[in-house]
Amino acid sequence: MKWIDTHAHVYLPQFEEDQQEWISRAKEAGLEKIYLPNIDLESVSLINALCEKDPSFFIPMMGLHPCDVKENYKEVLTEMRAAFNQKSFVAVGEIGIDLYWDKTTLPIQIEAFKEQVNWSIELDLPFVIHARDSFDEIFEVLDTYNPNELKGIFHCFTGTAEQANKIMSYGGFMIGIGGVITYDKAKLDEVVKDIPMEYLVLETDSPFLTPKPYRGKRNESSYIPIIGARVAEAKGLSLNTIAEQTTANALRIFRQNG
Ligand SMILES: [Zn+2]
Repeated sequence: MKWIDTHAHVYLPQFEEDQQEWISRAKEAGLEKIYLPNIDLESVSLINALCEKDPSFFIPMMGLHPCDVKENYKEVLTEMRAAFNQKSFVAVGEIGIDLYWDKTTLPIQIEAFKEQVNWSIELDLPFVIHARDSFDEIFEVLDTYNPNELKGIFHCFTGTAEQANKIMSYGGFMIGIGGVITYDKAKLDEVVKDIPMEYLVLETDSPFLTPKPYRGKRNESSYIPIIGARVAEAKGLSLNTIAEQTTANALRIFRQNG
């Protein structure tokens, strides 16, 4: 079975020491590609370093994470925008709005989000959305665009059926499912069961959101089949179907060949 991790921060320092080991475990588990969402200016060189090691396995994105939108965000965005002219990135990400950690930056988070959505349209690239306690604010921004111009992934989806329906109504978005589906309390499986397969992609969001039974430990891409198994169970489909469909969806949204 072939799998794809559409969202992992495995370039962070906590993955450095045992790099060969976790990469081997990911490949043994059937991982074909791992997509790396950027965070801030400092993470750019970490992502580059990992991608240079194995450019067909690690695929970079470029963008400013909503939690890192600070007063100097305009300069940061100027630098990031320039990076698209120097290197190729498969997506703008991760971008969005986070009202869990800091509500005071909402106005500049919205500005930064809009500017990066504009890049994705100019560059004809998908964008990867981080939405935490912020679906309404995100939808409000997206509703100002022509939906035909919008494409990407709502990463680490933990919303309601209504929110999933709203995402699907734009037409160009995939829904990223991660370790939260293995947490019984989240009841995410009840929402996922009604999302058609054509909208689903898998992700770990490593090192965060580790699936059961490894919860509490560092997350890693080799756990993707555990998440896939939970999706298979929720939807009453075979593991093979989940692997095939989510892999095809991921390659389609990032416009890559297997
Ligand atoms: Zn992330």
